[in-house]
Amino acid sequence: MVDCIFCKIVSKEIPADIMAEDGEFLVFKDINPKAPIHLMIIPKTHLGPVSALSGENENLLGRLILKAKEAAEDIGVSENGYRLVFNVGRDAGMEIDHLHLHLLGGKSMKFEF
Ligand code: 5GP
Ligand code: ZN
Repeated sequence: MVDCIFCKIVSKEIPADIMAEDGEFLVFKDINPKAPIHLMIIPKTHLGPVSALSGENENLLGRLILKAKEAAEDIGVSENGYRLVFNVGRDAGMEIDHLHLHLLGGKSMKFEF
């Protein structure tokens, strides 16, 4: 999609610290990390946020979460734990409308939300 930062990261027009890539998903480091480990897991195809999805996206959503689980294992936070976050809309602070799952880890977030 034109002018979508994450589509430009997918097409390599904008550089990113890419941790994993397959035919369907891209995993890269967040440019402004909120935790020692902060990854973005995104579909390569432009899809809107969770609020724009429907039943036809349910299989992709499942695979997206499993891709995040794989990324957590690869980066070594599985044992200590991590947080997976979808921001949806303005009150959540969502900035980018290309579907993305945040993976946060590397510190205790027990008393944070
Ligand atoms: P949102 O707030 O929309 O859920 O999250 C978007 C995330 O994308 C933010 O955490 C922000 O730091 C990250 N981000 C925005 N622009 C870029 C970029 O150009 N490169 C990378 N790697 N991350 C970005
Ligand atoms: Zn996009």
